Amino acid sequence: MSGNLEYLNHNLRRSAGPILACTKAFLASDSQPCVRQNFQNQDWYHGTGIKPADHPGRLELAVLDRHLPDACCAWCASRDVLVVALQGCVSEHSGDAYYDYELHCRRCGQFTACSYAEN
Ligand SMILES: [Zn+2]
Repeated sequence: MSGNLEYLNHNLRRSAGPILACTKAFLASDSQPCVRQNFQNQDWYHGTGIKPADHPGRLELAVLDRHLPDACCAWCASRDVLVVALQGCVSEHSGDAYYDYELHCRRCGQFTACSYAEN
């Protein structure tokens, strides 16, 4: 069950259930907080969840390092959220960075997905 998906703007979505394909594929069976795995030809981190400030993806992309610690729930604005899925990379072609991540809120239990593309 994924609930009603709302598009708040171009890069922020929220739903009562998992949003990103990676979250839908793994969240129900994940037992580790954060593992790395190739999924649909991209390296994803997924798991039961890790605090945004502690996420290893911050070491890979400067833009994630800057923005991830400020992540909050799109429903209730709580910062008590866990990152349940994340991928990010820099295009070899253009040099632009892009990423997607999904948060699970520990206060209200809802999901928030954020997508970012630099250009
Ligand atoms: Zn919330």
